[in-house]
Amino acid sequence: MSKLGQQTIAVRGGIDTDTQHGAVVPPIYLSSNYTFKGYDQPREYDYARRGNPTRSQFAQALAELEEGAFGVITSTGLSAITTIIQLLSPQDTLLIPHDCYGGSYRMFDHLARRGLFKLQVVDQNDEDALSAALTHQPKMVWIETPSNPLLRLVDIKSLATKAKSFGAYVVVDNTFLTPILQQPLKLGADIVLHSCTKYINGHSDVVAGAIITKDHQLGVDLDWWANCIGTTGSAFDSYMAMRGLRTLPVRLRQHQESAAKIAEFLQSHPAVEKVNYPGFDSHPQHALALSQQTGFGAMLSFDLVGDIEQSQIFVQEIKLFCLAESLGGVESLVAHPATMTHAGMEESARITAGISNSLMRLSVGLESVEDLVSDLSQSLDAVLASI
Ligand SMILES: *Cc1c(COP(=O)(O)O)cnc(C)c1O
Repeated sequence: MSKLGQQTIAVRGGIDTDTQHGAVVPPIYLSSNYTFKGYDQPREYDYARRGNPTRSQFAQALAELEEGAFGVITSTGLSAITTIIQLLSPQDTLLIPHDCYGGSYRMFDHLARRGLFKLQVVDQNDEDALSAALTHQPKMVWIETPSNPLLRLVDIKSLATKAKSFGAYVVVDNTFLTPILQQPLKLGADIVLHSCTKYINGHSDVVAGAIITKDHQLGVDLDWWANCIGTTGSAFDSYMAMRGLRTLPVRLRQHQESAAKIAEFLQSHPAVEKVNYPGFDSHPQHALALSQQTGFGAMLSFDLVGDIEQSQIFVQEIKLFCLAESLGGVESLVAHPATMTHAGMEESARITAGISNSLMRLSVGLESVEDLVSDLSQSLDAVLASI
């Protein structure tokens, strides 16, 4: 059979594999342990921390979608990261972007302070700073693109080429786009990770993570580490997330179509100062988005006119967007980074980083887009009236 389409891979994961009863949807294996066939005769699975059939099916589907060689399913996105950084020793340097996911930053920072590895933080779009950082030959280069909440992109192919010249591991956090919209392993990355909590599960009812490697042995090594340190995912979460995965390509199509309409609408409203959305010709990295992504995603952020009071009014008036962290679910969400995801940052540093008091982030869900636009419209009108 010719190479299967991503939609086929997503839908068919584990389907029609049950040899006992012919169940169309694969059964969930909740057992924590498995019998030996006999004396010194282990089966494929022995203990569920090490391996589980439900988890294997989910890992296999994700590895195929990323066009990688091996997948490891972890309990959370952060435990995927915990597992990956086991590849580092105290003398090694980890190079991370200055605007990576807050939870990742917190972990890297605290573990580096305890001497587990050396940490370098850089704006990967600042060519001079990046070149200077790369002269230290980091053992691992971390990429997260597009960034949260400003939707800045990093050129994966270009940075991976530089990092490979001295043999660094290139890791890409692909949570925002999923393999449907970006395949980092094909752009030169060695390892991709996901918070499956977001688009992959897509229904805001599971916390899970995944690691996919280009090289089979590296995947086997990380699978070994996941069992060793106990970061592997549960069967139930794997089952749920694989159920979500089946509709990922279809969901993303609608998420993106609605996000594009909402971005246009926001751009046209006088209560909005600036919209950060890679789908606009005016986005400084629109061309890069076109070349390394197959879609613009459904995350966007925008600055309201005014200041912190206007953010409060916007949030009070909006009805269909829940005020919540996280992203990628069927329901629309709004977040106010200054008081939520980036509240821990000092105000001046936050504003210098481009995260103003009136910056709002949207995760565009699957409600009727007309309803979302009219909700945004009435809320923005209230903002305008307050000025
Ligand atoms: C949510 C998130 C994580 C962490 O994942 P959890 O499942 O919450 O542990 C890591 N990276 C990005 C980009 C995220 O959005």
